[in-house]
Amino acid sequence: MGRFSPCLCFMMLLLLLIFLANAPATQSWGSVGHHITCKIAQPLLSEAAAKAVQKLLSSSAEGDLASICLWADTVRSIYPWSYCLHFANPPGVCNYDYNRDCHNDKGEKDMCVTGAINNYTAQLATYGDFSTAVTYNLTESLMFLSHLMGDIHQPLHLGFINDLGGNRLPVQWYTRQTNLHKVWDLEIIDESLKEFYGLEISAMIEDLRRNITGGWSDEVPTWEGCSKDSLSCPDSYASESISLACEWAYKGVTAGTILGEEYFLSRLPIVEKRLAQGGVRLAATLNRIFSSGVDVYK
Ligand SMILES: [Zn+2]
Repeated sequence: MGRFSPCLCFMMLLLLLIFLANAPATQSWGSVGHHITCKIAQPLLSEAAAKAVQKLLSSSAEGDLASICLWADTVRSIYPWSYCLHFANPPGVCNYDYNRDCHNDKGEKDMCVTGAINNYTAQLATYGDFSTAVTYNLTESLMFLSHLMGDIHQPLHLGFINDLGGNRLPVQWYTRQTNLHKVWDLEIIDESLKEFYGLEISAMIEDLRRNITGGWSDEVPTWEGCSKDSLSCPDSYASESISLACEWAYKGVTAGTILGEEYFLSRLPIVEKRLAQGGVRLAATLNRIFSSGVDVYK
């Protein structure tokens, strides 16, 4: 990917900021977080996965996976059932349990981020298999999976149910009033872009890529790994997220706490690694999904 021209970058950032200003207040990595995760994933796709992704992306995506990674947030009003698929909320404990935590607010099982990742992974695994009785809209499956793989890595998407993953925990971010969920969805990333990257998202992505092939390279095979015979492993990503939520996001924070430079600088490394892990694992999952099938769409 080439670097953005400063002018184009400024316009993109302006559009993103306008979007963020109008975005719903709850439960999603911000648009920049999803953009980064998908930009990291796409170059890591195998040839077979890249080909399948190209076939499934709509022509308006122009081959860019990142262009569809926010779609799942834009369909909440037309797909109201999908609201609960962006998160799972343990009951005030620092661990995650699928049977206990993966349900919507009516108690319907599997209606949460881990259940949805399992579901869309299984749907995408039918790609090229015309013998299955049920056919899915695999373009939508890809758009959901690409988005939710980002969300599950935002620690507060596995935050406590009593404060809705920090949405009901008001805090002061530097001089502004916000809530803890938004700090982790948006503010830490935005502050990093401001302080270290001159607002250039592409420069932040390049830095994360350098860490994936550099400082984190020893850990990356573990990030990519998944239990035998599984195409995706959302339960372990969810467990990591609630642990990080307790250890870093909620730590030292109560209603009204003022969060500034100390909180930002100590939490930024966690956010950076979660963005990178989301991208690496999205690619690894798509590579597993599309590795076995014969490409009948050639
Ligand atoms: Zn989301």
